[in-house]
Amino acid sequence: MKIQCELGCSKIFELNDVAAKFQYLPKKVERHYIECPHCQKQYTSYYLNEPMKVLQRKIRTLSEKGMHTTKQKNKFTQMKGQLGIMMDQLKKDHEGND
Ligand SMILES: [Zn+2]
Repeated sequence: MKIQCELGCSKIFELNDVAAKFQYLPKKVERHYIECPHCQKQYTSYYLNEPMKVLQRKIRTLSEKGMHTTKQKNKFTQMKGQLGIMMDQLKKDHEGND
């Protein structure tokens, strides 16, 4: 996937060539981001905190075990939805509303 460095040097780079990085913010929040190889402009991919990691583990476990019942499938969908909401919220907390 090609990405243009819109907020920096405007050059185009290949997403696969860029290592995903992360840094720790206060309250054990991880900020995951990529960095333009030309000008080092950073682009945030997503934020992650402890409760979200727990939820991610549960989602992974459930998908590895396989979902055999409607109840399991519903639980899976519900957890993924919840994770999405938490991600949006955390992003808002750190970047403000836009
Ligand atoms: Zn750049």
